[in-house]
Amino acid sequence: MKPILDYNIDDITNLLISLKQPKFRAGQIAKWLFSEQVSSFEQMTNLSKELRQMLASEYMVRSGEIVNTVICRDGTKKFLVKWPDGVQTETVLMEYHDRNTVCISTQSGCPVRCAFCASGINGLTRSLTAGEIIEQVIIAAESLGEQRLNNVVIMGMGEPFANYANVARAIKTMNADWGMNIGSRHITLSTIGIPDRIIQFAHDFPQITLAISLHAPNDKLRAELIPWAVNFPMRDILTAIDDYYEITHREVTIEYVMLDGVNSLPKHAEALAKLLRPYRINVNLINYNTVSETGHKPAHENAVNNFMEILKDRGINVHLRQSKGIDINAACGQLRNSHNQQSSQD
Ligand code: SAH
Repeated sequence: MKPILDYNIDDITNLLISLKQPKFRAGQIAKWLFSEQVSSFEQMTNLSKELRQMLASEYMVRSGEIVNTVICRDGTKKFLVKWPDGVQTETVLMEYHDRNTVCISTQSGCPVRCAFCASGINGLTRSLTAGEIIEQVIIAAESLGEQRLNNVVIMGMGEPFANYANVARAIKTMNADWGMNIGSRHITLSTIGIPDRIIQFAHDFPQITLAISLHAPNDKLRAELIPWAVNFPMRDILTAIDDYYEITHREVTIEYVMLDGVNSLPKHAEALAKLLRPYRINVNLINYNTVSETGHKPAHENAVNNFMEILKDRGINVHLRQSKGIDINAACGQLRNSHNQQSSQD
């Protein structure tokens, strides 16, 4: 069975041609899939029974199975999704007072292996397909019922720039009139920042917010926290950020996770301010969600406030990201790891 959510409007059109069906049905099918978000061909009531059966004999509408759902005290919901080959990923739905945001994964596991993160502990299992990326948005929208899903953040498990083709394809389906009709301004992508990809992304998706995980004010400390980053010196990333601004006229968000005693001291704030002062960026400080296996701890509130003040005093635009879902292991990869540990104890 082939997953139909992986198809774009051209693929659906070609499929209809091959089935000797009128091409205009492609728009109808895409509407059922991406806008009505039905879960079976049977529900596509303006198609003939014969066509519905033909499609159902070769294609599946949904391919993920939700194997665990946990709901946090603050309302955050976390879904553990199992794909047909058994790999698992996490999707998180965060409800703020004025908006609903889904955080989606792009890979199962992660090749980046950040020292503080749960996703990369066992490295990369595989990249997700465009259909699997899209399906996570549908899972979140479905769980909201009548409420609207406002934002998509591509910040779950995996490195999106290490799965660029599928991520780009998924974003196109999210954006498209024939697809989910989610405006680019409502989508954010987070990456460790691969310079060539930053430029490509600027050309392909100039309206999408780009967030780059920096986490350190110099290459030495950054390489300790983000082993993969040794391939991409900070100087090249900053040059790419300049080019990104030239192309898009939009500021990049710099993400910086606040780890106790590691990267959150006043000297780090001073160095970061000096490094970033010339660039068109915003800094988002992130409260660390403890992943016990890593040995890292969140910086104390005072240290975070102090860090923020130092950046502000030096003219850097800085915010503290609201933490969500702390009591359900909402940081990337944590639910998958704990679920698998439990299953192996059963
Ligand atoms: N690979 C991409 C996207 C996935 S991670 C990236 O690195 O940006 C999304 C963000 O969550 C990154 O900034 C990452 O460093 C951060 N993160 C990972 N584990 C975390 C944790 N336990 N607590 C807080 N932030 C975490």
